[in-house]
Amino acid sequence: MDISYRIKNLIRKESNISIARFMEEVISNDQYGYYNNNDTIGELGDFITSPEISQLFGEMIGLWCADVWYKLNCPKEFILVELGPGKGTLIDDLLRSTKNIPGFHNAIQIHLVEISANLRERQEEILSKYNIPKYWHKSIKNLPDNLPSIYIANEFFDALPINQYIKLKDDWFEITISLNEIDEELCFVYMPVMDKVKTDLENDYDHLTHNSIVEISSKSIEIIKTIGDNIVKNNGAALIIDYGYTDPYSERKATSSTLQAIKNHKFHPILKDIGKADISAHVDFYTLAEAVKVKSINPQITTQGKFLTDIGINIRANLLLEKADIINKKNIYLALDRLTSPNKMGNLFKVLSMFYNKNANQIIL
Ligand code: SAH
Repeated sequence: MDISYRIKNLIRKESNISIARFMEEVISNDQYGYYNNNDTIGELGDFITSPEISQLFGEMIGLWCADVWYKLNCPKEFILVELGPGKGTLIDDLLRSTKNIPGFHNAIQIHLVEISANLRERQEEILSKYNIPKYWHKSIKNLPDNLPSIYIANEFFDALPINQYIKLKDDWFEITISLNEIDEELCFVYMPVMDKVKTDLENDYDHLTHNSIVEISSKSIEIIKTIGDNIVKNNGAALIIDYGYTDPYSERKATSSTLQAIKNHKFHPILKDIGKADISAHVDFYTLAEAVKVKSINPQITTQGKFLTDIGINIRANLLLEKADIINKKNIYLALDRLTSPNKMGNLFKVLSMFYNKNANQIIL
């Protein structure tokens, strides 16, 4: 069954659906969702991600993980979780670049949270060369929580569902999706919200101007809290990388929608060709960090450019340059620039990290 048909049927039954429900169906439905299409990620697909741009990215994350493992006092067994591993390139580069660290690979259990059967197959294939126990899960809820855990997630949170609310004059509405009565095509419709929701919106966002849109991702908050709780319970760390914003709503005046669809590396109308274009929203890093602001985890936000430069991406790039031929040299320079320059991915992409080791008595990161 086609995803568009499914959504339209759903709307016929319910008259309209929230943007969150729409995203859940289009992106993460494990049978019909977008990520079960072939070639979604990469030069030939709809969008390209940092690990697909250069091996340097996964290698830097590998260094970060090894450093965290040392700071956790080198546990003999730990869980390395990747949320939404895509083609498996990041975890492959991470594992390859850390294979000479004594004891590190022996301690790893890999747990991959992946909704798409298609991508899971690709991940199984690329990781088959590593003699490390590997497990796949459809939800973070199914992960074991009895060992120190290191979580990584690149461009995972942007795929999680959001609800959108719009302020019109002094009233609030939820932006939902319905069917146009004339041609039965999908369209956005503003719906009145329940009193409780309205009170919450008024309390937190009434300073925003007319036409402002507020985006709330309850799923993201639920996931980050699960990660935070597990880290506090068993020790561990997390690294969340994505495009998004860091300033709180309380410091903004007018806000707009960040919901977007991308097809063949170009913006696409959100309600067209559904299931054939990637749909995502910018990540609200401030709210994610607030949700886990237990003092001991110390969530920190920085930009991708600063994060990669601080770990030493330039040093590693220089090593690769020494061995590269002229074409590869150019590619390395271009990739480095794309990943770190403030006007490319360097500033738009943010990195949220957290760390906790109850045996260390101090925050080290
Ligand atoms: N991290 C990869 C892929 C990013 S694309 C990279 O950087 O290249 C988003 C990934 O998250 C895909 O693997 C997709 O199938 C997965 N995904 C999206 N929503 C998900 C959900 N709700 N649960 C589990 N995986 C999900």
